[in-house]
Amino acid sequence: MIFEELLPGLWKFNDTCNVYVLKSGDKAIAIDFGSGKWMEDLSSLGITSLEHVLLTHHHDDQCEGLLKHDHWPFEIHAPAGEELFLSPDKKDEFHRAPWFGGGCPLSYAAPHGRINNIRYDLSGFGSFFWNDLRLRVIHTPGHGRNACSIMISHCDKQIVCCGDAAYEGAKIWEPYHLEWDHWTGTGALAAWEGVERLRGIGIGMLCPSHGSVISRNPRNMLRTLSGRLLQFYRQKGQISPGEPDRDIKGEKLACGAWRYLPHLYQFGSNGYLVVSKKGEALVVDPTTGDMKVLEDLFKELNVTPSAIAVSHYHFDHCDAIPELRSRYGAKVWLHPRVAEPWEDPEHTILPWLFPKRLDPFELWPDRGVWNWNEYSFKVAPWPGQTWWHCVFMTEIDGKKVMFAGDSFQPSAIWNGTGGFCAYNNSRFLDGYVPSVQLAFDWSPDIMAAGHTNCYLFATKKFVKIQRWARETHDAVLALCPSEDLEKDYYSLFDRISEKGFRRLPVGK
Ligand SMILES: [Zn+2]
Ligand SMILES: [Zn+2]
Repeated sequence: MIFEELLPGLWKFNDTCNVYVLKSGDKAIAIDFGSGKWMEDLSSLGITSLEHVLLTHHHDDQCEGLLKHDHWPFEIHAPAGEELFLSPDKKDEFHRAPWFGGGCPLSYAAPHGRINNIRYDLSGFGSFFWNDLRLRVIHTPGHGRNACSIMISHCDKQIVCCGDAAYEGAKIWEPYHLEWDHWTGTGALAAWEGVERLRGIGIGMLCPSHGSVISRNPRNMLRTLSGRLLQFYRQKGQISPGEPDRDIKGEKLACGAWRYLPHLYQFGSNGYLVVSKKGEALVVDPTTGDMKVLEDLFKELNVTPSAIAVSHYHFDHCDAIPELRSRYGAKVWLHPRVAEPWEDPEHTILPWLFPKRLDPFELWPDRGVWNWNEYSFKVAPWPGQTWWHCVFMTEIDGKKVMFAGDSFQPSAIWNGTGGFCAYNNSRFLDGYVPSVQLAFDWSPDIMAAGHTNCYLFATKKFVKIQRWARETHDAVLALCPSEDLEKDYYSLFDRISEKGFRRLPVGK
């Protein structure tokens, strides 16, 4: 295995992650473990006994090799809290993809099994003593909530093994690990705080888990990284700063639904209803929790549902389809892009994917017109919160109404967006930007967005969103080691793909 001597008695091995080995006499300790192959070279370095392995965090590239044996002749230590992903005493929930029914999991890279006999005794600002040597533990979250750095004083230098808290060139290895949920910047902010902690230390040599060691002015690099993390955090915030919500005033019906126009209704947590002259209804984004109010609405209006349309594949926008179809015989119309995840939902890795096939359904054209009763809908792909999203617009009672799903919301809710993250396959220059352009081109009066948010369209707001999307692209890219979003950010899907599960390709 390729390795280099960093200082007398300190080596870096290029395993699945960098493994740092520190020698004292003929004994040694290691920071992280990787595959464990590096141990074959220890005897050539005069090391007869490896006494401790200290893991910076639980990711499989740090420790997968430890699965090879139940017992090892050395002690294994990990940060407190990592037992959730490593200990045999915990549930085995992180080792199988996909995580149906859920959003972002707590880990994208837990090892493929559980590791025995780990001591979870590394905790933020504690010390680990090896003989007379004090190793300091510094809490540097990011690649998970519990990740730590280990500081070693050796050869009159303070050496900080920082795990994946930093990468050469002020980047983050696999930056999607900072997305602890699908929309907030919590993970980014925690990572920033960790980097600020490191920046406060007199570091002689910074030793990350991937890439090169940084010996020249590591604090300068950390300062740049700190700024980039903060920028990434900011982009997780408001997408149309300072814009009023422009909520439309509705009229509440006896059943609890809202009338926004004589033929446009909003019901429950997510859905809309369009009513035709002859008493047929089109149901938009039906979810099971909204079925009662929807059926009460049918009765109150004396209409029968004949069609169902869906803005995107998230289950809270479509899981009532089977029920509606069996009860009323309503026909389902899907945009081809929205239908893609359901070609093989049991083997597709996407968040909040309704895990059952929805066919039979009719397909809309990719871009074109769909006629239902007296209404003529324009339809198009509309990537934003997720790639597999569409939009449809028609004139209702003299107003152009755009059924907008989850990508763009009033400023006062969720920072004006359904959030962006790699796991949702949110796209910027080829997602949010062209989707905003489409809104300009179609120039709607009303945005009938998901989660009850029906508001007036304003060009000013969407100009801000377009700027935000470009800045967000730049902010994510700035953290990517290879300066390629596909390789570093959307590669999350390669990471979690397991045998038999497919990564859904993103067409252009
Ligand atoms: Zn990691
Ligand atoms: Zn959604």
